[in-house]
Amino acid sequence: MSMSRRIFLKLAGASAIAGIGGAALAGEVQKSLLETAQTTSRAGALTEKKLAMVIDMDKFKSVEDIRKVADACHRIHNVPHFENPKHEVKWIWTETFEHTFPGQEHKFMPEDIKQKPFLVLCNHCQNPTCVRVCPTKAMFKRKDGIVMHDPHRCIGCKYCMAACPYGAISYNLNNPRLAENLQEYVNPEFPTRAIGVVEKCTFCFERLAKGLKPACVEASNGALVFGDVDDPASQIRKLLATKYTIRRKPELGEEPNIYYILG
Ligand code: SF4
Ligand code: SF4
Repeated sequence: MSMSRRIFLKLAGASAIAGIGGAALAGEVQKSLLETAQTTSRAGALTEKKLAMVIDMDKFKSVEDIRKVADACHRIHNVPHFENPKHEVKWIWTETFEHTFPGQEHKFMPEDIKQKPFLVLCNHCQNPTCVRVCPTKAMFKRKDGIVMHDPHRCIGCKYCMAACPYGAISYNLNNPRLAENLQEYVNPEFPTRAIGVVEKCTFCFERLAKGLKPACVEASNGALVFGDVDDPASQIRKLLATKYTIRRKPELGEEPNIYYILG
């Protein structure tokens, strides 16, 4: 059986259980997630926060530990994988120290830090240029600090990609629904996206709405800490007060909300 037929049957099966057609199911999932995305900041427990993340690189003991974190995110969000690097779509991935913190490297620094793969993702910046340049408001910032993306309003102009200094936004040059990996682990609870729009990390807004942690945090074995930095009693705030942390390219004024402990 072809891969595309298998994925169709999976969705059709889920739809039959729910008593609706495949297209209707996908539409319903998308609608309900977008309603969650747009309303939780007004109605739910996520109002007026400043959500942020600390990545403690010292807690990762192997490259495999880091890979597990990225895989958890990509699996749960149906992030397509294409072999051709020009078609790559990524929500969370790794970069060298030099690319993560340009200008911070020097020739005497510890070799293990120089060689280590650093986890990077959208920084959910306080002053996000991606939001400022978006002509359709498809990219928007919620009151809790999450920088969201609405694929329905996205016209694929890529202004946000050009504006983001962290390369955190991917463009769907290929149809994500035809990616090989999605045939294997499609998650029917999260919508797949269309060709011709952009996508990026959304801090697992859909899981937060259910009281869950972001998938990457859950898979990180304590290396990733997530929470409200405006709450002085939060674990993340205590961590920031006791450990030395750095952020990516702070000189650009985007005010990234991802902090790194280097070890
Ligand atoms: S990292 Fe890039 S995509 Fe994410 S909020 Fe900042 S500017 Fe926008
Ligand atoms: S590609 Fe989409 S999200 Fe990015 S600026 Fe254009 S409309 Fe906005």
